[in-house]
Amino acid sequence: MTFRNPDKTCALCERLCAFRKDNREKYPTYHNAPVPAFGDLGAEILVVGLAPGLHGANQTGRPFTNDYAGDVLYPILKENGLAKGNYLKKADDGFELINVRITNAVRCVPPENKPTTAEEKNCRAFLAEEIKAMPNLKIILSLGTISHKNVLQAMGIKQSSAKFAHGAVHTLNNIKLIDSYHTSRYNINTGVLTYQMFDEIIKKIKGML
Ligand code: URA
Repeated sequence: MTFRNPDKTCALCERLCAFRKDNREKYPTYHNAPVPAFGDLGAEILVVGLAPGLHGANQTGRPFTNDYAGDVLYPILKENGLAKGNYLKKADDGFELINVRITNAVRCVPPENKPTTAEEKNCRAFLAEEIKAMPNLKIILSLGTISHKNVLQAMGIKQSSAKFAHGAVHTLNNIKLIDSYHTSRYNINTGVLTYQMFDEIIKKIKGML
C-alpha cells in the first residue's frame, strides 16, 4: 500500500497556506511546509501527535523535533529501547527510532497550535493512508484528544466506541489504540502529565508487543 504526503504547496487549507506564506517571509531558513512522518513504515508502533510547532517541527521538518513535546517524548523512547543515537533537536542529528514511526494528525503548523476541525478533516486522508501503509502496525499511541479523535475518524470507527482516557487501550480491528495526554509544555508544567506517567505509557506499550 502506498501513501501520499502532502507536497510543499499543498493548498487544502486556506488559513494554513496563508500562515505558511507569512512564515516563509518571517523565517526563511525554516522548513515551512507539511512535515512528513519520521521512522520506518515497517514499525509496529505509530505515535500520532497533533501538529508541528512553529519553531519546532515546522522549523526542522521532523515531527516533535526542537519542540518541547519532543524533549519529553524522545528521551523516554530512547530510555525504553525505542530509539538510538543522540537527539540533538535537528532533522540531521542521526537520531533513529526503533520499531516506532511518528506522525501528526495535521501536517502543517497551525496558528497558536490549534487546527480547526475543517483543517483536521482536510489532512485526515494522509493519516488514513499512512495507517494503512504500515504492514506490521500493532499499536497506535495517540497524544491527546485531537489525535485520538482523528485516528478513529481516519480508521472509520465511531467516536462513541472508544472514549479518550489517559492510559486507556482500545481494540480497533487488529490494532490497539492507547491514549496518553499530550507531552506538551502546558501539560508538563501543570502536572497533567509527568515524565513518570509518560514512561509508564511507553512501558505499557512495550508490554503489549
Ligand atoms: N510537534 C509535533 O510535531 N507534534 C506535536 O503534536 C507537537 C509538537
